[in-house]
Amino acid sequence: MATKRSGPRSGSTRATGKSAARGKSATKATSRTSSGSGASKRSRAPSTSGTSSAKRSTAKRRTSKTGETRPAGGRTRPRSSAPLAEYNAKRDFTRTAEPAGKVPKPRGRSLQFVIQKHEASHLHFDFRLELDGVMKSWAVPKGPSLDPTVRRLAMEVEDHPISYNTFEGTIPKGEYGGGTVMLWDRGTYEADDGGGAAALRRGYEKGELRFVMHGQRLQGGFVLARLKRPGRPQWLLIKRRDDHADPDRDITAEETTSVVSKRTMEQIATGRRVWHSNR
Ligand code: MN
Repeated sequence: MATKRSGPRSGSTRATGKSAARGKSATKATSRTSSGSGASKRSRAPSTSGTSSAKRSTAKRRTSKTGETRPAGGRTRPRSSAPLAEYNAKRDFTRTAEPAGKVPKPRGRSLQFVIQKHEASHLHFDFRLELDGVMKSWAVPKGPSLDPTVRRLAMEVEDHPISYNTFEGTIPKGEYGGGTVMLWDRGTYEADDGGGAAALRRGYEKGELRFVMHGQRLQGGFVLARLKRPGRPQWLLIKRRDDHADPDRDITAEETTSVVSKRTMEQIATGRRVWHSNR
């Protein structure tokens, strides 16, 4: 995880020069989306009996992991996927069941949030807030707290696609973020002053994002406050003082199952289904 950022711009430099991988990933996402139906189907690693076209592209795609730029092959890349360039460049979608990144057309619905418990090299919670067609994302090592006096370090990571909100399962070892991912909470959120997306955008830019969560486990006001530190932005996640604050509860210790599949991390890791009997 991001505890040892080497250089000030080590993250952002990776986002450049990966246009080839991005274009193909976005194309692939279309077919994946049409066949999958949420967390249960996605939770298994890609089948070895995948389509021949997927296999054919494996060798070519693998070179993108070396960080080299390859020609785009004349394919017009969708402009809309540009915000997720870093997300796509970090992943080999022939090897991970995570969704490829693309930005959907804006729709007039509530903004979504998701929190994924992620047992990678270090356990952490990925805190993701939808804004402008992507999920703004932070890795929170200790996860959220309901105690307003507790400040949780939240390291900003690359924007994720909104389609990531249904991802639960395992990322293969050796791949970026390899490990188990649980949907720990999800719901909608909004600006705390009723200012909508514009207020959230301003707060994000300013480094003081105040919002109200309407999740299954997290409710009420929270603030993300950006620290003045060099390198990739680090923030603090803090519960606001309201009726949903509760210093006596340790919510990450209490809630250890998926809000969607009800599985534990171990059950997700071993590919067990609790709700779904359609294996
Ligand atoms: Mn993560």
